[in-house]
Order: sequence, then C-alpha cells, then structure tokens
Amino acid sequence: MGETMNALIVRAPMDFSIEKVKIPQVPDGGLMLKVLACGLCGSDLRTLRIGHRKVKFPFTIGHEICARVENYGKEYNGSWKIGDTLAVSPLVYCGKCDFCLNGEYELCSNYKEIAQTWPGGFSEYMTLPKEAVERGTILLVPKGMNPAHATIVEPLSSCINAQEKANVSAGDSVLIIGAGPIGTLHLELARARGASQVIVADISDDRLKLASSYQPDLIVNTQKQDLNAEVLKATNGYGPGVIITANPDPATQVAAVEIARKGGRILIFGGLPKDKETPGINMNTVHYNALHLIGTTIFAPWHNKTALELLSSGGISAEKFISHQFKLTEFVEGAHLALEGKARKIVFIP
Ligand SMILES: [Zn+2]
Ligand SMILES: [Zn+2]
Repeated sequence: MGETMNALIVRAPMDFSIEKVKIPQVPDGGLMLKVLACGLCGSDLRTLRIGHRKVKFPFTIGHEICARVENYGKEYNGSWKIGDTLAVSPLVYCGKCDFCLNGEYELCSNYKEIAQTWPGGFSEYMTLPKEAVERGTILLVPKGMNPAHATIVEPLSSCINAQEKANVSAGDSVLIIGAGPIGTLHLELARARGASQVIVADISDDRLKLASSYQPDLIVNTQKQDLNAEVLKATNGYGPGVIITANPDPATQVAAVEIARKGGRILIFGGLPKDKETPGINMNTVHYNALHLIGTTIFAPWHNKTALELLSSGGISAEKFISHQFKLTEFVEGAHLALEGKARKIVFIP
C-alpha cells in the first residue's frame, strides 16, 4: 500500500476533481477497505451541483460502495476478515432511540451516514469507523458476485422499503412517475413482486428511452400526452392501484391523487425542493376515494439484505441497470455525463 491514493475531492458546488491524497489511518475498532466499485447516485449529483447541508467541503462523497477488507484497527471485533468483499451502504443507526428499539431502523432519530459524517467511496481506500462495524448497513458479498453489481444494493434497498410499505404485490397495476434510475429500479422491483401492469411516465424522452429497454406496459411522455387520459384508458377507467412518485415535481403528487384507483396506494418516494414542499393536493379526493398516502425514506437492515439477495440471485439485474462504467480517474467526465441526464447508472472503478 503506497502513501497516497486517488480520491474525489469536492471543493465547492461544481468544483471537483480526482486528487492525490494521503491514505487514511485505520481507526481503532474499524476497518481499512480497498474500494472495488462505487456507484454515482442522484443525491450525489445534487451534492455536486449545489452542496449538501450535512457535507462540509472539501470532502469525498460516494455511498454506493463495494469494497474489500484490507486491514483492521486495534480492538476490532467484527466478523469480517481480511479479503472479504463487502457491500457498504451508508446508514449507521444509533441503536438507542425509540425507533431503533422498536425495530423501525429506517426511522432512527440519530442515524449517521458514511459519505456525510465520514469520507465516502470515490476513493482507492476508505476506512469504516467502529460505529459502522457495529451498527452499520454492511453485508458480505457472495463469492463470484461482480463488485460493480454489489453497488446497486444501496439504491435498491430504499425501493424495497417503499414497495413493502405500499405492499406492491401480485396483480397490482403500478404507475411510476419518473423514469430516472430510481424509477427504473421501482419498475423492475414491481415486476419482481408480481405487478401485472407497469406504466412509466416522465417529461424526458431521453429518460423514457432508457426505461423502454425494460419494456413497461405503457410509456407516457407527460409533456406531449395527457397522463390522466392515457392511464385511465390503460386501466379500464379505474386508475392504477399503486402510484410511485420518483421525481421532484410537486404537480406529480397532485396528479397521483387524481389518477389513483379508489382505495389505491400512493408512494411519495421522491422529495420536493424546499420552496415547493406544499403541493395543492385535494384532500377530499383522498377522503372520498379512500386513498393511502405513504411516505418512505431510507431503509432498515433487512431491506438491505433483501436487496443483496435479489441482485445476487438475478431477481433484479444489476448488469442491465448499470449503463456505464468508468475508471475513478475519469470521474469528472462520468459525472458530467450523468449531470446531463445521459446515463442511467454510472459505476466508478478505482
Ligand atoms: Zn444512493
Ligand atoms: Zn436510532
């Protein structure tokens, strides 16, 4: 192991590059990891664009990580051994709050995140603190699984939590509004859970084209077509039983309430910009149509475990989902491709 390594350093919004930095010291009770692959997430793009309230620049982000154990610190008593390959998701639960005690880890009041509290994975090496070893979302990757594929565990985990909460199941008609990477994962997951019809809507032909390789039952460009009319026609006038909003436009949440089948479940998956947090939803429609509005965020350890199982068994294809792979040294080039909306999922390999 040399003295220096390549790492992404984000200095300010839209000011980032790969630099030579010192390899960190392995912390007491923690692990030194060699990063094998790290995925670029929509939230990373937002951090690159405008920063993040929990990230202090200069900083190394990257939270969809697959890495190999290189070494461990003093008094390490975790179960992973040198040479093990790990899928590292960023959440580190407190383990003490009422939600953690209740087993509702995804609601933890005091969770921390790798790539916010500690440096992330767009780097040749990274360390895991003792806290993450003890209460983190870290899984042993089965032998033979492609490290790039293991980076999809993290984004898929949030989708699994959401679809479990909405009980997406056999026979459901599902409308996904937003055909970005997360919308696409929702599409494949809904199918894996037995949905009989999956409809995808977006404003971007580029994104719809990327999603079309998943052969949804219907694709709607909401710039050019009337979403309400198209979806009602495709569902025999009833509307979809499940609607997932995977985008930051408040108008799509308003529309979801109008379009949903009576008794339907609406998953509010995508967050909204701070100045658009209160869309004018017709709450009488929610009332009279007996709708369920379901908010979800992050995930618990078992969603993480299910994600790895689905990906390693091929129930969800990581290979198909990853549209590009770049070397870490090509980070700037890859990030710009994603910032321009021309990639589904980019994974960087140090
Ligand atoms: Zn992510
Ligand atoms: Zn907690």
